[in-house]
Amino acid sequence: MSDNTKLQTQKKHKINFAFREKLNAIPEGFRHNYCYQCGACVADCPASNYSESFNPRLIVLKAILGFEDELVQPDSDIWDCTNCYTCSERCPQDVRPIDVIIALKNLCVKEGKAPALIQDISGTVMESGITTKVTSLTERRRQELGLSPVKSYPVDDLKKIIESD
Ligand code: SF4
Ligand code: SF4
Repeated sequence: MSDNTKLQTQKKHKINFAFREKLNAIPEGFRHNYCYQCGACVADCPASNYSESFNPRLIVLKAILGFEDELVQPDSDIWDCTNCYTCSERCPQDVRPIDVIIALKNLCVKEGKAPALIQDISGTVMESGITTKVTSLTERRRQELGLSPVKSYPVDDLKKIIESD
């Protein structure tokens, strides 16, 4: 059964307004409120073309209905988005589905519900300001290649930005 049919056949669903408020508080998350479900974002979406379950219109609909358990979790469809921004160009309502998806991803990281790899990367960024951990092997290889040691960056301001809501 497709996600669309599942949504249509569910007998009762009380809209989770608390989740919508939480999403509204994440930068760009509020944009889900403008969607009128035209489907223009789906046609040229490369992730939709290659995945049966991925559909930006449905992701935004689930946000509107407050399907928090489906959207905010490591196995959520949101992680299949390629960040290409095509949907943003197509949407007549300026919803920018990609921005809603990024807001959902940020919510996942904030609540510790992102895939383990993403959670690790965000921790590394928080600690060092860069996305990849610098190990002794990294330093040794750089030395062998005649490269300078990896710079360290002040991260206090970055932490303030990340930790601010
Ligand atoms: S194109 Fe915009 S308004 Fe239409 S379904 Fe997608 S997000 Fe909603
Ligand atoms: S950015 Fe939009 S068009 Fe591109 S893969 Fe993600 S949802 Fe699809």
